[in-house]
Amino acid sequence: MRVAMLSVHSSPLARLGGKEAGGMNVYVRELARELGCRGVPVDIFTRSQDRSEPTIQPLSCGVRLINLHTGPAAPYDKNWVLTYLPEFVSRVRCFADGEDLTYDLIHSHYWLSGEAALMLRRSWRVPVVHMFHTLGAMKNSVARSKEETETGRRIAIEQRLMAEVDAVVAATSLDRAQMVWNYGADVERIRVIPCGVDLRRFQPQDRSAARDRVGLDSNEVVLLCVGRMEPLKGMDALIRAAALLIERRPDLRSRLRVVLVGGDDEHQTAQWNSEQRRLDALRRELRIAEQVEFFGARPQEQLPDFFAAADVVAVPSHYESFGLVALEAMACGALVIASNAGGLALTIEDNRSGLLFPPNDHVALAAQIERAIADPALSAQLQAGARRRATEYGWTAIARRMIGLYDELVAQNAAAWAARRLAQVS
Ligand code: UDP
Repeated sequence: MRVAMLSVHSSPLARLGGKEAGGMNVYVRELARELGCRGVPVDIFTRSQDRSEPTIQPLSCGVRLINLHTGPAAPYDKNWVLTYLPEFVSRVRCFADGEDLTYDLIHSHYWLSGEAALMLRRSWRVPVVHMFHTLGAMKNSVARSKEETETGRRIAIEQRLMAEVDAVVAATSLDRAQMVWNYGADVERIRVIPCGVDLRRFQPQDRSAARDRVGLDSNEVVLLCVGRMEPLKGMDALIRAAALLIERRPDLRSRLRVVLVGGDDEHQTAQWNSEQRRLDALRRELRIAEQVEFFGARPQEQLPDFFAAADVVAVPSHYESFGLVALEAMACGALVIASNAGGLALTIEDNRSGLLFPPNDHVALAAQIERAIADPALSAQLQAGARRRATEYGWTAIARRMIGLYDELVAQNAAAWAARRLAQVS
């Protein structure tokens, strides 16, 4: 079996933690790697944003990234990429024809790629598996401004995809329920297969050595948050919680450190997006600018050091369909305190493998942090629980389930076409 994976608007090689690259890019890269290792060749098609990139880039065993020149050779608003989809699709077809390749299945990621997958299916007649990664309707339900609101066009495309693709993969049972509630999706068409974590990369390690490597002092109380600078990530709640903790326990003023990884660092102010500028204003307003530091986006290889260095990893998102950062931190044996928004509430078992709090509630977040740092026995127990829980999400098992789904759909598709041919003959 050969799989065409579509990740139109963002490449699996894009810089993580920036505006458009995060969990989906990691997911595409890791799933493809695991499929390739298991003898399922994968070509990942993406829109090239740099004319100097070669068309074909080998990524790992059996996996190639195919950069197709469509639209401007630069980052481009995803809503505008939509207008280039017909061109993208015809380039995918030309590539396959030129290489004399046929694909048995299309696995598309994000609504834009789903739209491209349906166009391709018309000529390739192969099944389409789709993953949304985030749902426009869910983002809109927590949006606080027009800037954060997703378009009606996106919602309509998502709805059509749920009705027309051969299978939708949901990351959690809640993700599946949200598709049913918000879009009237057919539950039979949705399979729940969780996201995975690279258990070799994300492992527990010694805290003081990790602090040396990332430049943090051994006597500090470190609260870490890792993610794209987006209002949805709720980093403001962590800043407010830190201010509250300092107000309650003035001894923490000299020892508390809030480390924000993602976006741009303290020296790259000209590149800060509106959310990062908002967070900067907030830390000043709350008089904790000295305690809150922007470390900028970091390559994933450095994240295990940050997770090991932290006393608490906070994941205060307003919405996550899954939330890979929480799982990665748990795999490193970190104490994770997350909002019970979306998938986080299912990955983390409250009081066993981490602590939960209601989204947007910095008072509750502060209370959970206080509880955890005051009780080393509880922390140790939650950290051990976190690693145990994360080991249930290794990529090997997840890829095996995905291949099972692919096999099923390919067999169904072959049977349907055989029946159609038979009907034409008779
Ligand atoms: N990430 C990274 N460096 C950063 C910030 C994030 O490598 O500076 C990675 C992180 O390891 C995770 C992904 O980006 O795999 C973020 O995924 P998540 O599901 O948490 O959030 P999303 O970006 O999908 O909203």
